[in-house]
This record gives sequence, C-alpha cells and structure tokens, in this order.
Amino acid sequence: MNTQPKAALSVSNIQKSYGQAHVLKGISLNAHKGDVVSILGASGSGKSTFLRCINLLETPDEGSISLNGETIEMKRLRDGRQVPSNTRQVEQIRSRLGMVFQSFNLWSHRSVIENVIEGPMRVLKRSRAECVEEAEQLLQKVGLYDRRDYYPAHLSGGQQQRVAIARALAMNPQVMLFDEPTSALDPELVGEVLKVMRGLAEEGRTMLVVTHEMGFARHVSNRVVFMQDGHIDAQGTPAELFEGLPTERFRQFVASHQLRSAE
Ligand code: ADP
Ligand code: MG
Repeated sequence: MNTQPKAALSVSNIQKSYGQAHVLKGISLNAHKGDVVSILGASGSGKSTFLRCINLLETPDEGSISLNGETIEMKRLRDGRQVPSNTRQVEQIRSRLGMVFQSFNLWSHRSVIENVIEGPMRVLKRSRAECVEEAEQLLQKVGLYDRRDYYPAHLSGGQQQRVAIARALAMNPQVMLFDEPTSALDPELVGEVLKVMRGLAEEGRTMLVVTHEMGFARHVSNRVVFMQDGHIDAQGTPAELFEGLPTERFRQFVASHQLRSAE
C-alpha cells in the first residue's frame, strides 16, 4: 500500500513554447502540505511562465498538474498541444490556488475591504456578512485593519501588497503562489511584506514563491529550486543549495546577488 502523503501540488514534465521559443523544457515539482518552495533564477528563465502554467493562466503544451491528488483533465488538439477539457474543474482548481503578483493587481475603484470580500462572495457564493467578518480578521493578520475603507491609491506599495495577500487568503487557498511579491517595492517596504509571508510559512501554509530575496529563500523556505533557461538546474534544501553550491550556474547566480545587495 502506498503510504506516501498526497502532494499538495504535483507538477510533472511541464513544457511550454511560444512560437519557436521553448520556454519551459520539462519542469517537475512536488510540494507537500506546509512546504515553502523558493523559486530562484535569472530574468527570462521561465519562473513566471511556470507559475502561470500551474494556475492555468497559461496552458502547458505538455505535462500534468495535480492539486491534492486531483489531476487537471487535459485533451489533445490536432496540432498535438493539450488544453484543459473541463472548464468547471479549471475554475475550481484556480480558486484553490491563491496568486500574488509583483504588481499587486488590486481593483483600484474598490476599497480595501471590498477587494478582500469580492472573491469569496462572487466565486464561493458566501454571504457578505460572513465574508466581511473573515476579511476583517485577515486585515488584522496583515496589519491593515485600520485601512479597511481606504482605496488602493491611498496606500503604499507595501500596504497594497499586504492587501493582495489578504485577498488571496480570503479564498482559503490550498496553495499560495507568489510571483516576485516584493520586486516592485521600494527597499524600505520589502520587510513588512516578507514579515507577513514569513508568518504564513510559520502557520504551515503551502507556498511557491518566486523571489530574488536570498534571505527568504535561505531562512524561510524549506526547499529551493533554481531555474535556468527553462529547466531546473538545481534543487534541494536551503543548506544543500547555499552551502553546497551544487552547480556552476547557481554559484554565479548567488555571487551576483551577493554583489548586488552589497552595492
Ligand atoms: P521570468 O519570470 O523567469 O523572468 P518568464 O517566464 O517571464 O521569465 O519568461 C520566460 C521567457 O518566455 C522569456 O524569454 C519571455 O520573453 C518569454 N515569454 C513569456 N511570456 C511570453 C508570451 N506571452 N509570449 C511570448 N514569449 C513569452
Ligand atoms: Mg517573472
């Protein structure tokens, strides 16, 4: 009998091309419940495309994705590519994946609290009162309860990103996907967002985090994946990667980031 726990997220042999450009060349990754996986890699290595394939904002040409053991159903087109065959399932799976983008993507014409309750009300069809109550707790968690009636334009970037995290959490996702959540922030605002993310990690949330924050990768995540040119060049525990420096590419990547933070 197989006693292995089901992976919270299991991705196998994901491939993606845009025209002639083979952007993902077979990426496989398993994340168990509570895993915090940092995804590192130079710009253009395919990190965003990979996250977008996981929540089907992009359709992978090849490969399979399972969430808690449920595999996303795909069918083949005549040209050989595959597309999801069950739109209902795609919607369900997407609602179980929380996504946080570099650019926050809040609804600018809605207040903070309205941003947070929109998903659970519209997608999960929950009552407004229940959603408001939960949203207030989430805003407390990210330290923004007192900004509940503000509009995004009146918040700092760090505050907006914390609202975006609360909004993602309001859907009670099984896995959180972060795509460079601190890259658009002024340096003095990075810490407040990383602190919230560290709190989520400590709560046992399953998270995939594309980041250039070496401190987060080293000290908060329990797994690190280094992408290079559409494939995984190295992966392991933070110690295996940062102390072992298993590949020449990863060594160069770490050296260039240390230089940058020392500048
Ligand atoms: P990263 O997030 O690691 O910087 P991306 O996943 O954004 O990398 O991009 C990987 C490669 O795929 C880049 O060369 C990029 O130009 C290309 N790419 C990404 N999205 C598209 C698209 N929609 N159409 C064509 N090329 C794309
Ligand atoms: Mg990117």
